[in-house]
Amino acid sequence: MENSKKITESAEDTKALAGELAEGLFDRMENAEHSQLICLWGDLGAGKTTFAQGLAKAMGVRGVVNSPTFLIMKKYDLSGMWKGYNLFHFDCYRVRDVQEIIDLGWEEILSDPKNIVLVEWPLKIAEIIPAYKTDVEVLSLDEDRREIAFKHF
Ligand code: ADP
Ligand code: MG
Repeated sequence: MENSKKITESAEDTKALAGELAEGLFDRMENAEHSQLICLWGDLGAGKTTFAQGLAKAMGVRGVVNSPTFLIMKKYDLSGMWKGYNLFHFDCYRVRDVQEIIDLGWEEILSDPKNIVLVEWPLKIAEIIPAYKTDVEVLSLDEDRREIAFKHF
């Protein structure tokens, strides 16, 4: 998926759009030298976790994906064509010091080309976000409509 902006009309729409991003990521990962990092921007309730759920589903995650707010990070094994890949979901909302994230193995997680890394509240850890990220910004337009912008770096 190139740099683009889409409007979604429902949570289901947003999940489907995340599925499209997943497809594009799969092709990119073949020759990748590091993980795929996706930073999710947007206010509380915008739809970041909803987007993460759509991405996880498209990648064959079978369990429930919630915001790992209290755990900070959750790892999911992927299945189907994504077998052998891992999805890491970070929620940095409560992070006070980037060291908390570094201590979870951040550098090692990022360096593995078999990993997809999703980060909610990336601003909290701006100093350890590498240049190769993809930004996904979710903007709430009204109760059910969201503008979702993609920017690849
Ligand atoms: P965040 O993780 O950004 O705090 P959540 O994904 O947890 O936000 O919550 C978004 C809420 O907005 C959910 O209750 C979801 O059902 C609702 N919603 C309504 N319309 C949309 C839409 N178009 N896209 C995403 N979420 C939507
Ligand atoms: Mg969330």
